Amino acid sequence: MKTDWKATHLDLHRFTHLGGEFKADTPLSQLPRVLEACLSVPDIGQRLCPWVLRGELRSVAGLSQAWLHLRAEWTAVQTCQRCLEPMDIPIQVDRWFRLVADEATALAEDDDCEEDLLVMSDEFDAQALLEDDLLLAMPLVPRHLDCHAPLSAALEDDLPHPFAALASLKTPKQ
Ligand SMILES: [Zn+2]
Repeated sequence: MKTDWKATHLDLHRFTHLGGEFKADTPLSQLPRVLEACLSVPDIGQRLCPWVLRGELRSVAGLSQAWLHLRAEWTAVQTCQRCLEPMDIPIQVDRWFRLVADEATALAEDDDCEEDLLVMSDEFDAQALLEDDLLLAMPLVPRHLDCHAPLSAALEDDLPHPFAALASLKTPKQ
């Protein structure tokens, strides 16, 4: 099995046809958008995010479909919006994507199918996909389950959410 896949320049045709697997422990310093969303604690840039991307072909009704599976488990650090103390937040990503030929197909099929769609590419940036999904998996308003400093209801309504725009574009389907 080939192991020299490049996460930021992935040939998805070959990756899915060969049943490719890419595994990495990526330091947060290489995931700048996620780093920015985290609390700036010492050595945060060196925290590793282990992740796995797998490709496969499926035969559905005589047609070949290419799929990607992304899995990541990681612990983010954010500020609790009640007590304003740092908190560790376990993040899990476990998502399947079906690959389609082009953007037009993705737009045409997206409303009619359950699964998430991605456009086939010879130079796919899997690390950017990982970043998108880590951001989506982070809580909208991080809060300790058991917090000692309850926030007033008025303030809670006003909490900004920096990823609201991204979330509305790419909310994972259930
Ligand atoms: Zn708290």
